[in-house]
Amino acid sequence: QPVLAVVGRPNVGKSTLVNRILGRREAVVQDVPGVTRDRVAYDAYWGGRRFTLVDTGGWEPDATGLQASVAAQAEIAMQTADAVLLVLDATVGATTTEEAVARVLRRSKKPVLLAANKVDDDRLLADTASLWRLGLGEPHPVSALHGRSSGDLLDAIIAALPTAPRELGSVSAGPRRVALVGKPNVGKSSLLNKLSGEERSVVDSVAGTTVDPVDSLVELDGDTWRFVDTAGLRKRVNSANGAEYYASLRTKTAIDAAEVAIVMLDAAEPLSEQDLRVLTMVVEAGRSLVLAFNKWDLVDEDRRHAMVRELDRGLVRVPWAEKVNISALTGRSVRKLAPALRTALKSWDQRVPTGQLNGWLSDLIAATPPPVRSGKQPKVLFATQAGIRPPTLVLFTTGFLEAGYRRFIERKFRERFGFEGSPVRVNVRVRE
Ligand code: GDP
Repeated sequence: QPVLAVVGRPNVGKSTLVNRILGRREAVVQDVPGVTRDRVAYDAYWGGRRFTLVDTGGWEPDATGLQASVAAQAEIAMQTADAVLLVLDATVGATTTEEAVARVLRRSKKPVLLAANKVDDDRLLADTASLWRLGLGEPHPVSALHGRSSGDLLDAIIAALPTAPRELGSVSAGPRRVALVGKPNVGKSSLLNKLSGEERSVVDSVAGTTVDPVDSLVELDGDTWRFVDTAGLRKRVNSANGAEYYASLRTKTAIDAAEVAIVMLDAAEPLSEQDLRVLTMVVEAGRSLVLAFNKWDLVDEDRRHAMVRELDRGLVRVPWAEKVNISALTGRSVRKLAPALRTALKSWDQRVPTGQLNGWLSDLIAATPPPVRSGKQPKVLFATQAGIRPPTLVLFTTGFLEAGYRRFIERKFRERFGFEGSPVRVNVRVRE
């Protein structure tokens, strides 16, 4: 989702305006320090659009002096955000500070909006026109306190923000889409057969002349699920020896069409390269995942012991995936697939509010800062969950974060917020 940075001197009413924009939704979080003390991020909504609002700190003069610290803040705002909102006090007008900021912002290719706050009555309206001279376009007179014209300002903000790219798995009505994938002979057809009911396969075996539908609707644990791209599976019911030369392509197509994948593994055999390739496809496609260990009826005590160690090593990439032990042959535990699918999809759809995310992240980073790289300590400025399906975090930083540290953040994020059954992406946006 797009990011709006709000900048302004202390006492111009920036916080009041921010609360106004947020509809006081997350105002409570104001007391929670941001990732760095002077920057806090929130979720904002307007006109059906969602964006992240980053409240940059008040510009107190630091060692380098007010002008320099203000310019630095504006630089950060400009580089991390998709648009910048400069707030000033209309009763004071543009000071040298705002003139300095305007100089920085004018160089930006990002949209800049100018809000003249504290226009509590019409007499000040005429004065705001003089703010055109800052070269930031039309000044928007507002009264954060009374709410005057804040709707117009929000309209202008929304118009300035880039539209977010469509999320991967768009919401669709009807049954949720499941891909049933795994290497040949692992038992996919058998399971689908079991789930679809026996009549189905009888119909299929005489249906040589009819065109098979691509998907199968399957009733499982009180819900209907759409198993996608199952034509090949259903055809194979009576010809288990058929060569699956198109298996890999079919797997890819099915995963892409689905929201959640059941990767079926043969519990009686060690994990194979082929199994791992299928798992990788699911993770890279960003789909949620359930692991089904089939042929559990063949698993004895010895095999069970061997599995424990084998899986720890084999499934390092997907420690978050739920494992269900089933037998497609006997029908044992196949109903347990449904709760696992629901959990995975819920995680895939889950969004952590930005305020909550940053409250958690600031503690984590204070306790375990990113490792120093080439003599520099990268700072994490703030984070936002930019998307769902799959859940995607974006960390805004002052430097590159090593893969190990990103994995650490992902692990801690999962410990705190769950997300069982779904991949989580951690992206980093570095401002240089
Ligand atoms: P697919 O290639 O993944 O569709 O696998 P199939 O469903 O055609 O199954 C391959 C073979 O494994 C068939 O002979 C099945 O009868 C057998 N099979 C499938 N599931 C099970 C199971 O849970 N237990 C046992 N013992 N055999 C199974």
